[in-house]
Amino acid sequence: MPLTVAIVGGSVAGLTAAIELRSLGCHVEVFERSATEMKSRGGGIVLQQNVIDWFSGTLGLPLDRVSTRTDFLRYFDRDGNVVSNRQKVWHNTSWSTLHKALLATFGSASYHAGATAVDVAQDEHEAVVTFEDGSVCSADLVIFADGISSVGRARLSPQTQPEYAGYIGWRGTVEESLLTSTTLTALADSMSYYVGENTHIILYPIPGPDGQLSVGERLMNFVWYRNIPAGDEFTSMVTDRKGRLCSVSVQAGEVKQEFVDQVRIDAEVLLPAVASEVVVKTAQPYIQIMQDTIADRMAYGRVALIGDAAFASRPHAAAWTAKAVSDGLALAEHLEKSQFDVTEALANWEPAQLEIGRNLFNRVREMGARSQFENSWEPGDPTFDFGLFGPDI
Ligand SMILES: Cc1cc2nc3c(=O)[nH]c(=O)nc-3n(C[C@H](O)[C@H](O)[C@H](O)COP(=O)(O)OP(=O)(O)OC[C@H]3O[C@@H](n4cnc5c(N)ncnc54)[C@H](O)[C@@H]3O)c2cc1C
Repeated sequence: MPLTVAIVGGSVAGLTAAIELRSLGCHVEVFERSATEMKSRGGGIVLQQNVIDWFSGTLGLPLDRVSTRTDFLRYFDRDGNVVSNRQKVWHNTSWSTLHKALLATFGSASYHAGATAVDVAQDEHEAVVTFEDGSVCSADLVIFADGISSVGRARLSPQTQPEYAGYIGWRGTVEESLLTSTTLTALADSMSYYVGENTHIILYPIPGPDGQLSVGERLMNFVWYRNIPAGDEFTSMVTDRKGRLCSVSVQAGEVKQEFVDQVRIDAEVLLPAVASEVVVKTAQPYIQIMQDTIADRMAYGRVALIGDAAFASRPHAAAWTAKAVSDGLALAEHLEKSQFDVTEALANWEPAQLEIGRNLFNRVREMGARSQFENSWEPGDPTFDFGLFGPDI
C-alpha cells in the first residue's frame, strides 16, 4: 500500500530518498528550510560508485556532463617535486551541480521551500512534524535529512553531541583561469596531495560555477587541514565578521580578515608553490570545523535519521555524500521488501546503515589521527585512498 512520507531537508539525502520513494508509489512531500535557491558552500564532492550509479542509472545523467575527471593520485613534496604518481580515476562534482540534478528530477510541486521543522511526535499510526510557523504535516513515515544540525536528531537523540577533532579545514575554490600555466598543468589531471608535518592539503578540479567542464574554465578546489587546539585562538577563528560563534563552518566572505591574511602567509611558508598559489589566489577561503557527530540510532519507530543528520564527520574518505545516498536508497529498498510496513522496514534497515556509518567514522578518525597528529602518512600510501566501505571500495 503506498505510504505518505514527509522528508525534512531538501539536500542530497532528502532528495535522493524522495525520488526513490516516489518511484515506488509513495506520496512524498519535502520540506526545506532555505527559502531561496541554495548556494553551494563552494567545495567539491568526489563521486563514489553508488552515487555514480544513481546519477547515470536512475537520474539518467551522463557522468561526463556533470563531473570533472582526474586520472592520477599525485603527491608533491615541499619543493614541488612529484614524489608519487599513481593512476586512479575519480569523478568530481560540486554540491550545486549535484543538488540541481536531484531537484530537477524531483520537481518543485512537492518541494516546500522556506519550511523549517521544529519538532516531531509520533504514535502507532502516524508521525507528525511541526514547523516554525505552527503548521503541521502528518505522515506514515517521517525522514529527517536535515543535516549536521538536525532538529530530528536533537529531539530523538539529545545526548548525541558534536566532538571537536582538534583541527580545521581551510577550504575554497579559485578559477583555473587565474592560475599560472605551471600550476594548472601540475594539478589539472590529478587528485593532488601534499603531506607535511601535522598538516596536509588536497586539491582537485570541480565544475565551474555554471557547470563548465573544460580545463581552464573549471574551479580548482582545496581543503587544507590545520591543527588548532580548542581555546581562545580557535574560538576567535570560528567567530565570524559579525561576531557570531559558528558551530559548523565559517562561510565564504565571513572569515575575519586577519585570519584570511594569515592563512595566505602560512601557505607560502608551509606548502609547495603549486598548492600555495591556489590558497593565496582564493578570494574567499572559508573554514570547516572538523568534528564528529555520531548518532547511536537511525530508526525511531516511524521516524528515520539519514545522511548528515545521523552521521556527520570529517571528509577524509570523501564518502559522506555516498553514505547519505546509501541511506536513502537502502531505506526505499527495505520499505518495498516489507511491503511498506514502516516500523518493520526501519528496524530492518537500521543495522547495516549504522554499521556503514560507524566503519566510515572509524576510518576517517584514523586517517585524521595519522595525518594530523602521528605523521605516519607516507606519500602514496593506498590506505588513504577515498572510499565508502574502505580504501578504494
Ligand atoms: C547549501 C549546501 C552546500 C553544501 N556544499 C558542500 C560542498 O561544497 N562540499 C561538500 O563536501 N559538502 C557540501 N555540503 C554538504 C553535503 O551536501 C553533505 O555533507 C552530504 O551530501 C550529506 O547531505 P545531507 O542531505 O545529509 O545534509 P545537508 O546537505 O547538510 O542538507 C541538509 C538540508 O536540510 C535543511 N535543513 C536543516 N535544518 C532544517 C529544518 N529544521 N527544517 C527544514 N530543513 C532543514 C538544510 O537547509 C539542508 O538543505 C553542502 C550542504 C548544503 C546544504
